[in-house]
Amino acid sequence: MASAPRPVSSAATLHPPLTDSLGRTIHDLRVSITDRCNYKCIYCRTGELGAQYPELANEEYLRLIRLFVDLGITKVRLTGGEPLLRRGVVDLIAELARLRTPAGAPLDIALTTNGHLLESLAGPLKAAGLNRVTVSMDAVDAAAFESITRVPGSFPVVLKGIRAARDQGLTPLKINCVLLRGFNDDQIEGFARFAREEDVVVRFIEFMPLEEGRLWTPEIVVTLKEIVEHIGRTMSLVELPPREPSETARRYGFADGTGEIGIIAPVSQAFCGACSRVRLTSDGKIRTCLFSQVEHDLYGRLRAGAGDEELSAYIVRIVNAKEPRHHIGEPGFLKPSRSMVHIGG
Ligand code: SAM
Repeated sequence: MASAPRPVSSAATLHPPLTDSLGRTIHDLRVSITDRCNYKCIYCRTGELGAQYPELANEEYLRLIRLFVDLGITKVRLTGGEPLLRRGVVDLIAELARLRTPAGAPLDIALTTNGHLLESLAGPLKAAGLNRVTVSMDAVDAAAFESITRVPGSFPVVLKGIRAARDQGLTPLKINCVLLRGFNDDQIEGFARFAREEDVVVRFIEFMPLEEGRLWTPEIVVTLKEIVEHIGRTMSLVELPPREPSETARRYGFADGTGEIGIIAPVSQAFCGACSRVRLTSDGKIRTCLFSQVEHDLYGRLRAGAGDEELSAYIVRIVNAKEPRHHIGEPGFLKPSRSMVHIGG
């Protein structure tokens, strides 16, 4: 499946960088490569449903991703489901690493994982060209962690995966922790210490209504303000400037200069106005927002024989109509038809 870096297709010269009707530049593509998962995190999956959607062949993901890259995508994040369950993930990353943006730059390639298979895969992933990983970890206490993942023995396995990835240079290594009041909000301080001791960036995420079951309420969300106040009781935090305007996390350092945490606050402080993301589901549908009520069947067009020009024009049109914002917490809010694990987080 190896091939030389492709010359930039004519699509790049036909279309301006991907923008939407509100003038937001879209340069970040999240691609789910499976909606299978080996964990049953209580706030994500019910544990009763398995995979719901088919997966594409690596060549098909690659062709679709290449079209986005030719149109201006500079960063690709592979996710799922659990992307490391996907056979051929290392080969796919090796192929992505050969793509070039219209400006001739390599892609920024990242991956979000639960870390369960990371210890042995960190080396091959790095060698294939992966730049960074984000590992999801919702407690620093082993028993609390395993009561969330519902997989006995998972905590030490993930910890080894995190350390292996960090030692391979898949950095800055970020840890994502979704906080739920009454479940794991007692872990905040432990995570702040973990960030400093393990040299990782811990990012707390406000829980969004994207679960398979029915757990979300406004009250269960632990907000950015509460997290900052909580840590501030024992450690002093200094807010750091954003690295780029579309950065999702508010960044904080510790007063002594060691360690960093981030807080992603899509519920209490939505950042839709600076959104630079679109998503491709494992079955090849474009989603222009996590909360989109409609999906756009890019893969269906590919299967029907559409050429690159037609597919690129379709992408441009769909991205242009990206939703202005989500409506979490507003009257009439509707959950999307797919939950997070099936969209790709
Ligand atoms: N299996 C991989 C993992 O565990 O990171 C990738 C998929 S997972 C759906 C991606 C991220 O979405 C994880 O960090 C997870 O914690 C987060 N997530 C899942 N459901 C969420 C929700 N309802 N609100 C906020 N984040 C959520």
